[in-house]
Amino acid sequence: MNTTINVKSLKKAEFIDITRDVRSAVMESGVKDGVCYVFVPHTTAAVTINEGADPAVLHDMVGAFDKIAPDEPFFKHAEGNSDAHVKSSMVGASLHVIISRGELVLGTWQAIYFCEFDGPRQRKVLVKTVEG
Ligand code: ZN
Repeated sequence: MNTTINVKSLKKAEFIDITRDVRSAVMESGVKDGVCYVFVPHTTAAVTINEGADPAVLHDMVGAFDKIAPDEPFFKHAEGNSDAHVKSSMVGASLHVIISRGELVLGTWQAIYFCEFDGPRQRKVLVKTVEG
């Protein structure tokens, strides 16, 4: 089963917690034991798992990615968002989480984040659940 989660980013760069939406998709799928795939069909966004308790971590991550992959004078891409493309590839367009007893198996402090690197934009996240 496939589910599309619509995400509206409000900033140039931000991490948006989509754990609840992914949980809902898993519940609706009816899969009890299997794998949940989360995929972002964008080239300037990504998806990751990280701490869901302290919002300061997200602030620090955005700052760290800006430092690691800033806008560079040597970039040639006419759209002017090469830093976002670099960050997208660094983080990755997909992840997977094990489903057990109908629930996502996440660590106590883990949350699933949509990573915006070239917002604000309307975005999509695709979720697929597989039994097995
Ligand atoms: Zn571009």
